[in-house]
Amino acid sequence: MQNIPEIEELIKLISKLPGLGPKSARRIILKLINNRKELMQPMLNSLHNVFKNILRCQNCGTLKSESLNCSNCENSKIKSNIICVVENIADQWSIENSSIYQGYFHILGGTIADNNNKNNNLLIDSLINRVKKDKIEEVILATSATVEGQTTAFYIQDSLKKTNVKISKLAQGLPVGGEIENLDDGTLISAFKNRKGLNENKV
Ligand SMILES: [Zn+2]
Repeated sequence: MQNIPEIEELIKLISKLPGLGPKSARRIILKLINNRKELMQPMLNSLHNVFKNILRCQNCGTLKSESLNCSNCENSKIKSNIICVVENIADQWSIENSSIYQGYFHILGGTIADNNNKNNNLLIDSLINRVKKDKIEEVILATSATVEGQTTAFYIQDSLKKTNVKISKLAQGLPVGGEIENLDDGTLISAFKNRKGLNENKV
């Protein structure tokens, strides 16, 4: 497959995806070319639809379809007035899978380190609004145990000061440098159960 510019271009793009190198990219492309109707065309359509219709909810930060209400914000199963703040959607999925937590989520979309204009990208203003508007009783900071994650948690704690909401943080026991999405269920459950209050209103 060397020296075909269109294919080389696609290899470069696919190699940028997580977990894929040039070798896997070549295999994927061959598979697509050999299955134009069954795979390549539906994938093109599907990518086009996702590109056109999927956007970030400006209230909670999750992904949503443009034409539908956000299922994260309007989840009728949620009974508790707690918001868990995570860095990305993969973190939310890990926490949901562990079944330790059934409240709302707020997805920052990264950490302060990768966002220079803090409030806009990380939706911190919208987090403050949610706390006030939805009468939230506790905010759990579930950012990673990395320097960036902890700096972000501290920044959010500071931003929420005026709301007087209870703020807690996942317990130590998270391995240093540990990213939420990579933790096993047992570690996550214990981190949630033993979470510590960060302000005077103890959890
Ligand atoms: Zn939402």
